[in-house]
Amino acid sequence: MQFWKSRLPELQEASESGKAGVGGRAEFKLLLFFTTTSLVAFVVVAVLLGYVFRTLAIDGLISGYESEHVNHAQVLANEMWDDDFGPLILSLAGKSAADVKAAPQIPAILKKVSRLLKGTKIFKIKVYDLRGMTIFSTEPGQIGEDKSSNAGVMDGLRGRNSSRLTHRDQFSAFEGEVQNRDLVESYIPRYDPATAKVSGVFEIYGDATSILSEVDRRQWYMVFSVIGLLTLLYLVLSAIVKSAQDLIVQQSQERERAQEALRLASTVFLTMDEAVTVTNAENVIVSVNPAFSVITGYPASEVIGKNPKLLASGAHSAEFYREMWEKLDTEGHWHGEIQNRSKSGALYVEWVSIKKVCSNKGVPTHYVAVFSDISERKASEQRMQHLAHFDVLTGLANRTLFSDRLRQTLAKARRDKTHMALMFIDLDKFKPVNDELGHHVGDMLLKLVANRLAECVRRESDTVGRMGGDEFVVMLPEIETMQDAMTVAGKILHALGQTFEIAEHVIHISCSIGIAMFPEHGKDEGLLLKSADAAMYRAKERGRNCVEVANHP
Ligand code: GH3
Ligand code: MG
Repeated sequence: MQFWKSRLPELQEASESGKAGVGGRAEFKLLLFFTTTSLVAFVVVAVLLGYVFRTLAIDGLISGYESEHVNHAQVLANEMWDDDFGPLILSLAGKSAADVKAAPQIPAILKKVSRLLKGTKIFKIKVYDLRGMTIFSTEPGQIGEDKSSNAGVMDGLRGRNSSRLTHRDQFSAFEGEVQNRDLVESYIPRYDPATAKVSGVFEIYGDATSILSEVDRRQWYMVFSVIGLLTLLYLVLSAIVKSAQDLIVQQSQERERAQEALRLASTVFLTMDEAVTVTNAENVIVSVNPAFSVITGYPASEVIGKNPKLLASGAHSAEFYREMWEKLDTEGHWHGEIQNRSKSGALYVEWVSIKKVCSNKGVPTHYVAVFSDISERKASEQRMQHLAHFDVLTGLANRTLFSDRLRQTLAKARRDKTHMALMFIDLDKFKPVNDELGHHVGDMLLKLVANRLAECVRRESDTVGRMGGDEFVVMLPEIETMQDAMTVAGKILHALGQTFEIAEHVIHISCSIGIAMFPEHGKDEGLLLKSADAAMYRAKERGRNCVEVANHP
């Protein structure tokens, strides 16, 4: 009971909180969690991959353009530095922006540059002197501009190549105006071969519009491919996750049903009228229910940890228990009646059903005994049994029981080929006792007659019965001769002939006896009774208070 008591609040709590999920925990929505995190992960991965791809692609694009621009700068330098840009820089050294703008060599240089760059992706060329002033540009309006603070120009003057990607809505290329272009703009220093020092800086613009749009196209292609692949992956994984979630839900429902069942079982255990004893594999009590305490008188605390034999009354042999355990071990269950002793010492009869409980591997783990006190039922059965077989007034065998015993005795006598005697005894003039002294005195007299008759026979083997009214029968199985039967009959005549004292009354009666012998006067119970009865009537007719022997049939 303690086991159940300690578990019960937990079980009830679990069942009450069942709506919130198993054990009170909120149900984990696996599919929702998976879908949300997957979506976030897709967006992040796709954006990240797109960004990385674009960055790497543009870096590659710029560096490709830069090396191309370095080559162009080299070509320009080879073809035009010594004859055109070198002398131009020298002639404009220290000159103002206006002077630079107005330099007379510029139109010729422009022509030459246009020729050299025809058919290339170069849009525009600028040349800076060591001051950072624009001494040449294919866009003549920019000649004379001071670009000494421009980062690219500064890098070039320091001997470093630098490039960047820019977008221009409107742009003046040397072949005319162009719109909406992506350009790679490179600053390439020109080294003087004699001094190995920077002697000027080229700025070269290349058109990257088509390549950049290809980069964008590929970027989107890649992003959509990634999203497509991730979606496929998501569909596969979500199918797996869905079946996992279904399994989780199913398991949690099963668990709920199991606890619920456990709660019901515990309620039944605690409230049932039958006593329950649970023992472990060593037959040590681990749990009992309240009905156990009601029936046995032992509180749970006094029996848990003990062997159920503390209830034994000693009524059953060791053999009885050995057979019980043998059946339990071989068949797994046993039921029957056991007489036990309660704590108060009172004996009681229980109807017990014991079941062996095994683990999954078939190893016995517990024995569960369910029993009810059937003492009252047994007692009432016994009372009914007694009423059915014994005369209520005298306690002698009644007609039914006497006939049974007679039948059994005759069968034995027939088998053993022995003799036996049957007597019919009827009180003489009994009616007047009733009439004169009252029915209750008559009853008392019948009881006393029964006692005297019982005293006249051997208690172990002989049977005295009352057939009804004042008629008694005596069966003498061990009588072999009529002589012996007559002796007993004489004893009875004498015993009943003695006075009876009932209250203030002294009563004299006598009886008439008819004797029939087996097998001489009847071979079966019916014939024998009939013969003895007839003999008794003849005794009455003869004047009463005498014995008559049956006639041969
Ligand atoms: P007989 O000598 O011919 O046997 O006459 P009797 O007066 O004994 O009368 P009989 O045997 O024919 O009847 C027995 C009487 O016993 C009838 C009835 O009034 C009485 N009787 C029957 N059963 C009971 C009983 O249980 N208690 C009492 N007090 N009287 C009974
Ligand atoms: Mg009579």
